[in-house]
Amino acid sequence: MEKKENLDGRNLGSGPVGRWIIYIDKCTGCGECVDACSLGLLYIENEKVKMKEERYCSECEDCASACAFRAITFR
Ligand code: SF4
Ligand code: SF4
Repeated sequence: MEKKENLDGRNLGSGPVGRWIIYIDKCTGCGECVDACSLGLLYIENEKVKMKEERYCSECEDCASACAFRAITFR
């Protein structure tokens, strides 16, 4: 099982990778979550959000909070 890794010395979660979930049908590609992620892990492609490197995701939930469409959640 792939585990979380630290980025820039931050103390990230130690749990497994794969908790970040996008409900792609709800995503409008507005980009608010991209701006909200301080680690720069998200980007927009074909008007939908994509995750670059989930192993670095701290599960801070800032992206989910920024999404007016509730398209992001955690397993
Ligand atoms: S904030 Fe929500 S709707 Fe906007 S790009 Fe991110 S996931 Fe999609
Ligand atoms: S939970 Fe935090 S670190 Fe992970 S993608 Fe969302 S904003 Fe970025």
